[in-house]
Amino acid sequence: MSAALRFGSFVFPSPVLGYARMHRRYFFELLAALAATPYLRADDEPKKQIVIAGGGILGASIAYHLAKRGARVTLLEKLRPGAGATGNSFAWLNATFSKKPRNYFDLNFLGIAGWRRLQRELNGALQIQWGGCVEWYPAGAEADALRNDVHNHQEWGYDARLIDEPEIRKLLPGANSGPMGSAAFSAQEGALNPLHAVNVLTKAVRRSGARVLYPCEVTALEISSGRIAAVETTRGRFPADVFVLACGLDSPFLAHMAGLEVPLRSTPGVLAHTAPAPRVLGRVALAPGAHMKQDPDGRVVTGMEFGGALSSNKSMAHGREMLREASRFLPALKNLSLERVTLGWRILPKDEFLIVGFDARCPNLFLAAMHSGVTLAPIIGQFAATEILDGASVQLLAPYRLSRFG
Ligand SMILES: Cc1cc2nc3c(=O)[nH]c(=O)nc-3n(C[C@H](O)[C@H](O)[C@H](O)COP(=O)(O)OP(=O)(O)OC[C@H]3O[C@@H](n4cnc5c(N)ncnc54)[C@H](O)[C@@H]3O)c2cc1C
Repeated sequence: MSAALRFGSFVFPSPVLGYARMHRRYFFELLAALAATPYLRADDEPKKQIVIAGGGILGASIAYHLAKRGARVTLLEKLRPGAGATGNSFAWLNATFSKKPRNYFDLNFLGIAGWRRLQRELNGALQIQWGGCVEWYPAGAEADALRNDVHNHQEWGYDARLIDEPEIRKLLPGANSGPMGSAAFSAQEGALNPLHAVNVLTKAVRRSGARVLYPCEVTALEISSGRIAAVETTRGRFPADVFVLACGLDSPFLAHMAGLEVPLRSTPGVLAHTAPAPRVLGRVALAPGAHMKQDPDGRVVTGMEFGGALSSNKSMAHGREMLREASRFLPALKNLSLERVTLGWRILPKDEFLIVGFDARCPNLFLAAMHSGVTLAPIIGQFAATEILDGASVQLLAPYRLSRFG
């Protein structure tokens, strides 16, 4: 009987049905059964159920890249998309100059290129202020370091160059640079409104047929044989073949339930946002102690504590002080009206690089936690889809696995 199929009392020498001894009723049952069986190809295997926790820019981008490829995705967000670090981010898309060593620079560079790809894929729904970034320092150690950094990045193929004062005024009309030691222009960079970007991505996720649920907090992980079997949430239980943990600063809490320790720390960052205004800035400007950009919606955003004292003062008085400081360099900001002041908390892995990917100790949990997550989101989303759906291990991510912390 090895080369035959048996259906009830019928034997069909396979594959030639014409030799069968058969009864009419069974014949029609067989035809009905064949008609109801979908044609199976290798890629018709039941799709993995992928549950993503965290609707920040990383969760949204990972969901987008998975859903685009037809994966079954459910994105769960505790509050609302962009409620964490993302909504309070300066959202400058950059690969300067702290982006070292080479591998980390490459990822950020690919992140910038990824935003251009997303703009095309999303048919212009994503608004990004391209135009590069102008940065300068008075004479001293920082100005010297900038010269070295520009040279280093040029050798890595980055479109950055040293500029002089007249060129600053050309790139930033109306700017008053003050005493200047060195200045640089990085042409490929941009900035966006992070809440707008997260909303565009989650809309695209929904259009692909995936679910985006909020408010919905993941409260516990159901673990079976060392793997996540399901997540418990404030809206019930969601079975998961793969669980993506992108909860920002809340990730360590959930990772701990899976036996993983995720070493994160945080620093505060305050930003002052003006009401929409006519265009005064065509690019990101990093003046000594005052950083500024103007989003595509006309709102100017300023911050002053990237490298200096870290404040968590989000009073309107502090916001006005920040705007005043920025207007020393760009007097056009003086008369803009302050709309709000935000306080965000940076997600900083212990060594300040990213943490991304699967970990052998809980093999179906994919982790994504990082600073510079706005710049990196498109490339991390793309690489996450490759690792989750294709089982490949992306080499560029090799230095950034959780296992490096032991
Ligand atoms: C002041 C400031 C300036 C910055 N400037 C830049 C910059 O110029 N360029 C740049 O590239 N990056 C910048 N960053 C960093 C960048 O914003 C972050 O790296 C990025 O937003 C991280 O995104 P995320 O999705 O990982 O985290 P988050 O945005 O924090 O998202 C995590 C989400 O998970 C949700 N969540 C938490 N717990 C649960 C749970 N149990 N269940 C379900 N959901 C949950 C939260 O509500 C949140 O929405 C800045 C950050 C700050 C704070």
